[in-house]
Amino acid sequence: SLLITDECINCDVCEPECPNAAIYPGDVVYEIDPSMCTECVGHYDEPQCIEVCPVDCILIDPDNPETKDQLMDKFNKLTGQG
Ligand code: SF4
Ligand code: SF4
Repeated sequence: SLLITDECINCDVCEPECPNAAIYPGDVVYEIDPSMCTECVGHYDEPQCIEVCPVDCILIDPDNPETKDQLMDKFNKLTGQG
């Protein structure tokens, strides 16, 4: 899963770009639901939120590393193909 840091400026550009609806406005900055984020695996070659974020505040969550296979499994479960 990816993680939004506290450098987020709450611009709301990323939220509509997420194919998994994993991004939502949190109490302070935008947040990503790790159970919904496939790092865009299954949908796109590159994480769409990282592509559009104007301040580059979205990173791979160091506490939640996932392999491509794990991300593809999550995609299959989310889309009902698993
Ligand atoms: Fe959504 Fe993709 Fe960003 Fe994950 S990497 S939050 S799935 S846009
Ligand atoms: Fe925050 Fe970046 Fe998303 Fe804008 S695009 S809301 S700055 S994470």
